[in-house]
Amino acid sequence: MSRIFQIRELPTIIAGPCSAESLEQMRSVVTDLSNDSRISMIRCGVWKPRTRPGGFEGMGELALQWIKELKETFGNRFLFCCEVARTEHIELCQKYGIDAVWLGSRTTVNPFLVGELAEALKGSGLSVMVKNPITPDIELWVGALERLQRVGIVDLAAVHRGFTTYNNFGYRNNPLWELPIELKRRMPDVPLICDPSHIGGRRDLVAQLSQTALDMHFDGLMIECHPQPDKAVTDSGQQVVPSELKTILDNLKVRQRSETAPGDLIRMRQQLDIIDAQILKLLSQRMNISKDIGVIKSRHNMPLFQPDRWDQVLRQQIAAGKELGLDENFVKEVTEKIHGESLRQQENS
Ligand code: PEP
Ligand code: MN
Repeated sequence: MSRIFQIRELPTIIAGPCSAESLEQMRSVVTDLSNDSRISMIRCGVWKPRTRPGGFEGMGELALQWIKELKETFGNRFLFCCEVARTEHIELCQKYGIDAVWLGSRTTVNPFLVGELAEALKGSGLSVMVKNPITPDIELWVGALERLQRVGIVDLAAVHRGFTTYNNFGYRNNPLWELPIELKRRMPDVPLICDPSHIGGRRDLVAQLSQTALDMHFDGLMIECHPQPDKAVTDSGQQVVPSELKTILDNLKVRQRSETAPGDLIRMRQQLDIIDAQILKLLSQRMNISKDIGVIKSRHNMPLFQPDRWDQVLRQQIAAGKELGLDENFVKEVTEKIHGESLRQQENS
């Protein structure tokens, strides 16, 4: 049997609404998307995990009936997928002929539940995607994929939808690109799909995040698409209409795999780029604090440069660097540079 998820020359594009809301909504979006041959799979939420009680929790079995009906027209054109979080969901997906399911972020964090779902998925014929856990813990992500592999499921993919962190840096979910890249390094045969909609949480971020993912050699994209996003019952700010999705896909630069350097080299360079970006972000945070310190010093008439404090910082850094295997002169030079810039910022504050 041919696999749904495999590493192909062109990225796999999955699109569809956050939630299946009505047959009309689903028919409208599926019809519009069917004109775009790049899209091969329709996504929709049938059961919605909500952080707080009382929200829309999905249309459940009724939505599966709509999908079954749509499959009569579009069954040869599209595959259909939805999230499952309970063993009963899996049985219902089989009953209604769903092609693929995904374990959501709130499921991937729970090894007992993943184990139970893996048992239920065994022999079901369903292809399975695993979204990253909400927490930035790669072991949970790898562990969930391994639990599925152990019961014999080979048609698997991983979905990167970002993480909840102390500071999400303006994203709905912090992308922490180093994690999916590390996942790809550890499990190179499992296709990696990016979900820019849930990372950005804003429709204007979808294009840029999708490009970043493709530049990092992700194998596909899952993008939320709704006929009338402003009226969507869930995630209305991040969904795009089908025509916007077409523009996003038209503008994406898809690089041929064959044109690129060996996979390991690419991944390691990506890791370096991510670390460099983090260094800059941290330096900027450090300079902002320095400026605030500058204000306090001038308010209290304190000298900007305090030799004792500088001596302590330098010794501390050299000792910490040694522990990390870094050359003493190198650490000294970097620390002097940072300190010098910090004083310059304080002078101007
Ligand atoms: C979804 O795909 O609609 C969803 C609920 O995503 P996540 O689990 O990534 O929040
Ligand atoms: Mn959503």
